[in-house]
Amino acid sequence: MIKNNLLRASALLTIAFLTFTVLASPLAYSLATEISLLGSAWDHDNITVYIQLQKGIDSSYEGEVKSAFNDWSNALKTKATNPNAFNFNFLNKPESKKRPADIYVEVRKNTGTILGSATISSSNGKIKEVKIVLAAYNALGLPLGREDFRTIARHEIGHGLGLGHSNDDGKEPLDLMAPTYDFVGVNKDIYPSDLNLNALIFIYGTDGFGGINLSQIPSKYP
Ligand SMILES: [Zn+2]
Repeated sequence: MIKNNLLRASALLTIAFLTFTVLASPLAYSLATEISLLGSAWDHDNITVYIQLQKGIDSSYEGEVKSAFNDWSNALKTKATNPNAFNFNFLNKPESKKRPADIYVEVRKNTGTILGSATISSSNGKIKEVKIVLAAYNALGLPLGREDFRTIARHEIGHGLGLGHSNDDGKEPLDLMAPTYDFVGVNKDIYPSDLNLNALIFIYGTDGFGGINLSQIPSKYP
């Protein structure tokens, strides 16, 4: 179950995606064939990232989050014409207290039943800032598998780059941007799919996050 909250705050449009541990009802197996788009995108490359770990969180989680970003970066680079494209710049300290970075990631011990969330603020079709919150522990206080943690991180980063959810049916093989996951049963790394990557190349072109490739981003791809 995913809840999309559309909040209009002055000129900023904020979209929040929350990820729960819900098993999708069994349907006939099929691969995801389309994915919704947020209608907004970044206008520069590199995208800055600042990762904040809640006190008491093992420092190794920072590396897990970075690897999730690098998985997107490396996968997009295979489709890029510019070798310097699709980069993330990890900051050692926040740009400012109010706006730590383009994408601000907070890893918390426990976020209740919500294992990950992404809040995207955009204006005039441009993403202005993204806040991602990731849980290191589930609602029972048990640590999430690192594979699940990384997969949730990749999923939320996908939102932060302009992707909505794919039309995945919740059965194997799962699309990274599927709307529902049974994270208890996934226990493995899920990486950006060709559908996810092609949707981003459709938005940005092959030259990086530096500019939107379209006069207007449609609501879904293809
Ligand atoms: Zn989602």
